[in-house]
Amino acid sequence: MGKHALLSASSSHRWLSCPPSARLCADGEDKGSEYARQGTDAHILCEYKLKKMLGMDCDDPTESLSFYDEEMEECADGYAGFVVEQLSKAKEICTDPVVLIEQKLDFSKYVCEGFGTGDCVIVADGTVSVIDYKHGLGVLVSAENNPQMMCYALGALELFDGIYDVDTVSMTIYQPRRENISTFIISKAELIQWAETVLVPTAKLAYAGEGEFKAGEHCQFCKVKATCRKRMEYNMELARYDFEMPATLSEEEIAVILTKVDELSAWAEDVKEYALTQALAGTKYTGFKVVEGRSNRKYTDETKVAAVVSDAGFDPYEKEVAGITAMQKLLGKKKFEELLGSLVYKPQGKPTLVPESDKRSAMNTAIEDFSEN
Ligand code: SF4
Repeated sequence: MGKHALLSASSSHRWLSCPPSARLCADGEDKGSEYARQGTDAHILCEYKLKKMLGMDCDDPTESLSFYDEEMEECADGYAGFVVEQLSKAKEICTDPVVLIEQKLDFSKYVCEGFGTGDCVIVADGTVSVIDYKHGLGVLVSAENNPQMMCYALGALELFDGIYDVDTVSMTIYQPRRENISTFIISKAELIQWAETVLVPTAKLAYAGEGEFKAGEHCQFCKVKATCRKRMEYNMELARYDFEMPATLSEEEIAVILTKVDELSAWAEDVKEYALTQALAGTKYTGFKVVEGRSNRKYTDETKVAAVVSDAGFDPYEKEVAGITAMQKLLGKKKFEELLGSLVYKPQGKPTLVPESDKRSAMNTAIEDFSEN
């Protein structure tokens, strides 16, 4: 299991929702995804940028980062700037705030073997602030009642509560690629109450491999998500939906399906991906075989192709106007605006059906357009 605790803070949303998943995930193989490695690189860069901004000694890690790009650079600069701003605010109320970077936070007082690493912790009189950087784009992460952040905060309290008189805990998720800064503030008393009434009993069940299986959106981070029976039952419930007369679905029924359809298709994709991996390793599924997918012709060596075509008297290259990002990089933001501002437009996005809770404002639909006339 390496340095991964059975009940880690980062997986706490999953094991608090479905305690038996903890043991099942501990047995499963840990395949570090490309996204996870990209996140690790971003965290290393963030740590460097912040230390540099605070005048601390550190080596530039950029050369060693496989996923480094311009966007990562901007995100890390933004993160460092944000933390420094928070630190200045802390200095307004406290003369000697402490800032800790990549700090090991031990919350094993509440969760067996529980520890995690906080990207940044700021401690000032009265308040402990935990800041976590998220590089991911896929899921918008909220700090509100976020158990990972609450576990980190418990670890931070263990370190400082005796030294600083803490009564308030602030938790912030900094997720620049989604333009999301989410902060949740609670009193120390509320945090401890949650730890004692929710965290401790559920962690005990999870550690023992006990408790109820419960499927939901947290399944996407579970190692047995493709083969879990509970998740199958949860998703198949929809498939078994007892549609009665009339023969076509009502709007209410379609609305029910829409609330579950994303999870249903995510589950179906997980099962397909798992089955393909197994089939390639030799498993036979009755009625299925592995075939080669479609593929397109490719050059074996582009340099040679260019040379051969040039020798034959033709121009092997096509010229294209650089894309907007590349052009902006070439000209710089100001010049880009000056020269091309009037030649850039944003086409209307493809209509998408999303839950009411989505932050974007609703588009005018055909029927509304019609009724306005
Ligand atoms: S897939 Fe979902 S329901 Fe199944 S063990 Fe994992 S978290 Fe629990």
